[in-house]
Amino acid sequence: MNDILLMLPGPTTVHPRVLNAMSQAVVNHRGAKYGEILTETTELMSKVFQTPNNSYLLTGSGTAAMEAGIANTVAPGEKMLNVVGGKFGERFMKIAQTHGIDAKELAVEWGTAVTPQAIKEALDEDEDIKAVSVIHNETSTGVAAPIEEIGKVMKNYDALYIVDTVSSLAGDEVNVEKFGIDVCLTGSQKCIAAPPGMAAITFSDDAWAAAEKVETNTFYLDMKAAKKSGDKVPPQTPYTPSVSLTYAMNEALKMVIEEGIDNRVARHHKAAKASVAAVKALGLELFADEAVSSATVTAVKMPEGITDDQFRGTTRDKYGVELAGGQDHLKGNIFRIGHMGNISYKELTQTFAAIGMTLKGLGVIDDAGAGVSSIAESYL
Ligand SMILES: *Cc1c(COP(=O)(O)O)cnc(C)c1O
Repeated sequence: MNDILLMLPGPTTVHPRVLNAMSQAVVNHRGAKYGEILTETTELMSKVFQTPNNSYLLTGSGTAAMEAGIANTVAPGEKMLNVVGGKFGERFMKIAQTHGIDAKELAVEWGTAVTPQAIKEALDEDEDIKAVSVIHNETSTGVAAPIEEIGKVMKNYDALYIVDTVSSLAGDEVNVEKFGIDVCLTGSQKCIAAPPGMAAITFSDDAWAAAEKVETNTFYLDMKAAKKSGDKVPPQTPYTPSVSLTYAMNEALKMVIEEGIDNRVARHHKAAKASVAAVKALGLELFADEAVSSATVTAVKMPEGITDDQFRGTTRDKYGVELAGGQDHLKGNIFRIGHMGNISYKELTQTFAAIGMTLKGLGVIDDAGAGVSSIAESYL
């Protein structure tokens, strides 16, 4: 096993049960055995998405599902509104532009969340908007968007509601049916805690109706092809899937269901609350607006006078804890603690011990144990 503790917003530590499941014999992906495992896995996936609709596995990372979600449902030239408050919102903009979609940006300050009201106003202003994309958990800034409330607004408009739950599904509350989400997508390596390399997506009836009208402009990610293969008996995927990762997803999703989705979400919220308290106990400042801070990743301002290399280099190389840095203009200005997947007080204690020792060693703080002490109090 890797003796570096991964406290990243993906990939996250993979449980031995999942690693073992992956080592099963690779079978014919056109045969009955794979059909069984695929059926079971996509059914588990729909349970976790909380939708009565079918789910589809895509061999590729989360971005493949982002691209599949847009390219199949919005035609070139059609207008789409994208909430952009970080790196992943920007990615939806870029994917839309790549497919010739008329991509509009609803910009929100990085570190804050979009409001349902802002979306309502944008839709009232322009009735040609065919779809709205929202990143549920903006991993680059540690902010969670109010997707349930936005869903209530979306119900009054024809526009499709496309939600990226790559870093929130199985970690924060996502209920595709209840929230009225038309296209919901996720990845394997975040809260689901499987290895990287698979993505999953589900479409509502409205999304499928939109897909029927869009002329196919992506080959590998063609959802009509995925549906056609998925409807075969036994079900298949259009091209060779990662058989091993299907086993991994199957086992990881079983672990989600065994824990219980609500329990798992509560565990993530508890870890987030404990992390925020420990960050403050160390005298550090949150990057995100605390009222909307994420259940799965905590973004922290880098203390003055130290570099990203000094800080994260030391937590990793000296203390065995790998944290994430900032992206783009936040590089060097923030660090991020991923607390998604199989995370509890043990991992957080180790993490905050590493952060405390590093900061004391660099002369930033006096009390190396303040974070650990706070974690202990939070979990008592
Ligand atoms: C990780 C992530 C993705 C997908 O990234 P991949 O590297 O393609 O797996 C998409 N959206 C969000 C919010 C993410 O955190």
